[in-house]
Amino acid sequence: MTKQAKKEYQARMDAIHSESLRIRNTGKCPVCGAGLRDNLSLAGWVQCEQYGSAGFRKDSSKASCEFQCFTA
Ligand SMILES: [Zn+2]
Repeated sequence: MTKQAKKEYQARMDAIHSESLRIRNTGKCPVCGAGLRDNLSLAGWVQCEQYGSAGFRKDSSKASCEFQCFTA
């Protein structure tokens, strides 16, 4: 990886990271509007409360949502 490519890669990662932090601070999923929760199996892993199959998401009567992001 060239120095310039590395710089661009880092800038992209920083942008994604700050966007993830911004979303986390809103406490709302940007896709479906449900709440967000921390997945405790990995630090910084934030998921929509509606993430996952029935029985795992917060409200199984509502549609599941795939949103997740990393803030660490
Ligand atoms: Zn969602």
